[in-house]
Amino acid sequence: MENKVKIFNTLTKKVEKFVPNVDGKVNMYTCGPTVYHFAHIGNLRSYIMEDVLEKTLRYVGYDVKRVMNITDVGHLASDADTGEDKMLKGAKRENKTVMEIAKFYTDAFFSDCEKLNIKRPDVVEPATNCIDEFIHMVEVLIEKGYAYLSGENVYFDTSKLKEYYIFSNQSEDELFVGVRDDVEEDTNKKNKNDFVLWFTKSKFEDQALKWDSPWGVGYPGWHIECSGISIKHLGEYMDIHCGGVDNIFPHHTNEVAQSEAYLGHKWCNYWFHIHHLNDKSGKMSKSKGEFLTVSLLESKNINPLVYRMFCLQSHYRKPLEFSYEVLANVEAAYIKLKKRILELKKDGEIEQDKFAEFRTKFEDALANDINTSSAITVVYDMLKADMNDATKFALAKSFDEVLSLNLTVADEKKAEDSSVDPELEAYVLAKIEERKEAKKQKDFAKADAIRDELAAQGIILKDTREGVEWTKVQ
Ligand code: AMP
Ligand code: ZN
Repeated sequence: MENKVKIFNTLTKKVEKFVPNVDGKVNMYTCGPTVYHFAHIGNLRSYIMEDVLEKTLRYVGYDVKRVMNITDVGHLASDADTGEDKMLKGAKRENKTVMEIAKFYTDAFFSDCEKLNIKRPDVVEPATNCIDEFIHMVEVLIEKGYAYLSGENVYFDTSKLKEYYIFSNQSEDELFVGVRDDVEEDTNKKNKNDFVLWFTKSKFEDQALKWDSPWGVGYPGWHIECSGISIKHLGEYMDIHCGGVDNIFPHHTNEVAQSEAYLGHKWCNYWFHIHHLNDKSGKMSKSKGEFLTVSLLESKNINPLVYRMFCLQSHYRKPLEFSYEVLANVEAAYIKLKKRILELKKDGEIEQDKFAEFRTKFEDALANDINTSSAITVVYDMLKADMNDATKFALAKSFDEVLSLNLTVADEKKAEDSSVDPELEAYVLAKIEERKEAKKQKDFAKADAIRDELAAQGIILKDTREGVEWTKVQ
């Protein structure tokens, strides 16, 4: 088939024509979430843009197989194998077992994805399902001389490679994230960028998940998971691998090192990286107390698809700053756009030439390095163009296979809620904030007084796990 999609490849640092290994078929891999906490909307920006990439590839005609791992073991606080185990940290925080935490946050992740119309990958594989595959890979790497045992852990020997920094020309010192002021250097490593393939000497006495291995009871390193899981499901050759930009080093660099050493040939041809969503204070973090989640947006009555549209309006290769002001503008545009589409008359004959013309325009926008904002412009151009309503509606429906904004579905929560007086809504939300602040200051009398004051006006507050919900009784 014609290969019309061009994407920026982090490996070559160029926008390139995307040509898969097998004509018409795409093998795609996505680094999945570390399930120790809710995903923040920054994480979800990456998954939204990867979803658009996958749907674009399908839209232009490829048969895509997409695989994603779930990191439920092995990811330490620093990506360079130091610091606390993230899963253990989550379990301690909530007084639960690691597996309970993994299940809860895996479900929460897919529930967020559903709300954002992110398609579930064809294969989703938790790392804890593939321990045998990881052990096998580590055995082969030791046999081939790429790995060594030291201080009871197995390390990958980066000095054995011709080229380790495949994504970057930067100096080693600039890239090296393993030794920071607050983190102890691992003296078992022969070279500073060597990384752990298998831990047996756990730094944590209470490490919950452990398996037998030829090197003693232990658990896999984080990086080996993605190599093991992708090779298990996609074979020795991969077309495209995705993740956020923070994954480039060390995670993806290490994935390439160990996969190619294991396979003995080039592994993945295209690397797709999404830039970060930042808040006003900078990088998003899950350790800053209340962090931005889909549930938080919902508690503020914001439809998650408005956040999806917010992401689609900017390019995935640019950092994006989150603000409620911009989100409010996007919300207004989203409601207006949907209204316009839903008012189109659906019956009548589709004008095939016009349909084809605009479908091509839409494909071309996306094929140009997943330019989602241009694709949205095509939606507006199409609505303004000279063609009948039935054709416009059919095009909107077709475009929504990729945009996934429910553009032709009339069941939006916000639409139902539009009967709520905006002034009343603003008043109640301000009171809810005031009550939250009072609770934070431990002024419970004031918090109760605010609740009672609202109740006297027929406004009932309900505290839920996701935040405060309110209803007006008639
Ligand atoms: P994690 O659950 O930490 O393994 O991260 C899941 C995904 O989110 C990875 O692909 C990260 O690269 C990506 N990611 C992390 N922080 C951000 C951010 N602020 N904006 C966009 N993507 C992010
Ligand atoms: Zn990964």
